[in-house]
Amino acid sequence: MPSLQSYSTFGLSVSCDSIESFTDVPSFLSLYNSIENRADSAVYILGGGSNSIFTEDFNGKILVNEIKGISHFDTETHHYLRVGAGENWHDFVTLCMKEKWYGFENLALIPGSVGASPIQNIGAYGREVNALIDNVECVFLETGEQVLLSNTDCQFGYRDSVFKHALANKVLITHVNFKLPKQYALETSYGELAALTEPTPEKVYSKVIEIRKSKLPDPSELGNAGSFFKNPVVRHSVYQAIADEYNSVPHFVVAQSADFSDTEQSQIKIPAAWLIDQAGFKGKTLNKVRCHPTQPLVLTNLGGATGSDVITMAKDIIASVQDQFGIKLEPEVRLLGSKGLISL
Ligand SMILES: Cc1cc2nc3c(=O)[nH]c(=O)nc-3n(C[C@H](O)[C@H](O)[C@H](O)COP(=O)(O)OP(=O)(O)OC[C@H]3O[C@@H](n4cnc5c(N)ncnc54)[C@H](O)[C@@H]3O)c2cc1C
Repeated sequence: MPSLQSYSTFGLSVSCDSIESFTDVPSFLSLYNSIENRADSAVYILGGGSNSIFTEDFNGKILVNEIKGISHFDTETHHYLRVGAGENWHDFVTLCMKEKWYGFENLALIPGSVGASPIQNIGAYGREVNALIDNVECVFLETGEQVLLSNTDCQFGYRDSVFKHALANKVLITHVNFKLPKQYALETSYGELAALTEPTPEKVYSKVIEIRKSKLPDPSELGNAGSFFKNPVVRHSVYQAIADEYNSVPHFVVAQSADFSDTEQSQIKIPAAWLIDQAGFKGKTLNKVRCHPTQPLVLTNLGGATGSDVITMAKDIIASVQDQFGIKLEPEVRLLGSKGLISL
């Protein structure tokens, strides 16, 4: 039974039936079609494993995407990039900076593969990847049919897309096609980026890396899967009830009602990190899992953690935040049990 420990950045010591990689669509289809009793077997496509936590031995096959290749052309107004799903995200962003194909600077240093980026519509520091995606090339697992999904077809939302719903476990993403406008406004509204003097894409890229290194644990040193929970988006009345009790609740209006006076129709995002901190978990350790002291949204593996340690800590956080604020946190990470994805 091969170990999955080095295939997931959280690094739990678990195993699976087999791990195989593929570098193109024919080799993927041949691996996939050779799996007997597919209907009854667990099969999991893996990129960099930075959003997947295997909480116990996985009774199935892991197929690791290593489809590489980056091609580029430009027009008077845009850069177009076709990128293999198995390319490393941060290496790709760094290449784009060198080539002056700007737009990705806020998304520097996010671990994982290019192919996973549309799945949860990765985002950071005020920018989400969907703003730069032209379309996504996929293959249907069962039929081998290749399809091109437009940006609209992908149904992007906050850490969400069609790949988590109608197309979950149905397609392999083979390439992502990006379209970068040559004229665009830098996104510097976020906290420390707003303090940059005469911002350039290079300054934003460097600052984002600096902020991330100062706040987030490096998975190569301390196992983690980034933000464990999504930031909840609530109705205005829910936010207001919390604001009445707590001074200066951080929040962002994500959707305003058409009638600006009707605040109840507004959607407010409250940072999950603040809720978790208020619930007393910042820096707290339970068995071998710690709620990170500088970013409580991240749970870390102190070494030798088990899946049940992770689940216990996550459930404790969810229950405490729900008790205190009436808000149910949802995991942003993909949690896997012995047969596939599980929910808390
Ligand atoms: C330290 C740290 C910081 C992070 N910061 C951020 C952040 O700022 N913003 C953010 O949005 N995320 C962040 N993340 C989460 C993570 O980096 C992203 O979700 C990333 O896109 C995951 O890529 P991956 O290749 O590692 O995905 P994996 O964990 O390998 O896979 C994730 C999911 O996608 C599926 N999948 C992967 N590749 C394919 C494919 N080619 N075709 C079909 N399905 C596929 C898998 O089956 C799985 O369900 C962070 C993670 C860490 C560890």
